[in-house]
Amino acid sequence: MGEFDLIQRYFTPASYPHDVLLGVGDDAAVVAVPSGFRLVAAVDTVVAGVHFPVDTAAADIAYRVLAVNLSDMAAMGAQPRWFTLSLCIPDASESWLTEFGSSLQQLARQYDVHLIGGDTVRGGLNISIQMLGIVESDVWLQRGGAKPGDVLFVSGIPGEAAGGLQLLLNPSIPVESLHREHLLQRFYRPMPRVQLGRRIRGLASSAMDVSDGLLTDLGKLCAASRCGAHVDLDALPISHAAIATYGQQAAEQYALAGGDDYELLFTVASENLLSLESAIGDLAVRCTPIGRIMPGEAVQCFRRGEPVSMNITGFDHFARN
Ligand code: ADP
Ligand code: MG
Repeated sequence: MGEFDLIQRYFTPASYPHDVLLGVGDDAAVVAVPSGFRLVAAVDTVVAGVHFPVDTAAADIAYRVLAVNLSDMAAMGAQPRWFTLSLCIPDASESWLTEFGSSLQQLARQYDVHLIGGDTVRGGLNISIQMLGIVESDVWLQRGGAKPGDVLFVSGIPGEAAGGLQLLLNPSIPVESLHREHLLQRFYRPMPRVQLGRRIRGLASSAMDVSDGLLTDLGKLCAASRCGAHVDLDALPISHAAIATYGQQAAEQYALAGGDDYELLFTVASENLLSLESAIGDLAVRCTPIGRIMPGEAVQCFRRGEPVSMNITGFDHFARN
């Protein structure tokens, strides 16, 4: 199978919505951004052995690389619309491509995003997606914008993805099979919080998605907003499955420092809390107030009102030991 056939067979959508004027098959794609909207762009790459174990199923890889990009759109309050796919694969295995292509299209359908182009080359497994979205002018979300006094929220239950990854890295960990399934699912199949991002647009003073660990990413949000934060550990939602598997203390560590959750971290000024409640009340995803934005630049955790020191570093590709 040549490159042309491969693209034709696995990566050419059967149809496009009206805002795709030219899709896969030409030198570039052309899309229509509705007037009154801004274009929002993000790219994320996943590398075998770095972002997922080398033997990960093609369907899970496809899901993950698309999901992490959708999550970036969620963090911006954007509606994801179109994406391009850069695929570097060691060989053109039909079963791998079939599984990869159908998983990608399935998630794409679910979020109404459309593959409009890409690139296909041979090499070590390495996949990038560039995601394009739109957001109403000029009310996107961003990391900078939190103010002292704002309430800090996290969606979902942070730390479950890290709990799942740990099971993959150490298969001998004893774990009840229901918990195992749940935690692995949370690692392989994060749920991009696109709807949530859309709903908090105009209400949240800042937002980001948690990919490198809650405290590390909160540090980034605070740095961008030039402020500090207090985190109330007693309010932090902790995974029951992680507690049952790793114990309370380790489960809390995963919640604070584990990566790969793709939950949203966002801040809301006190006067907007009621509007927030009505804006997101009917969503299935739970959002928990876990602290407050503070003057200064420190991120400080508290337990029963007492400061607790945390020694946590999130994931950094270029950190030296
Ligand atoms: P070019 O030589 O102009 O870069 P390519 O042969 O690389 O063209 O690609 C041909 C067409 O197929 C282009 O429209 C490109 O966007 C699309 N394409 C290539 N690889 C992929 C892929 N993995 N997924 C989606 N579209 C792809
Ligand atoms: Mg060309």
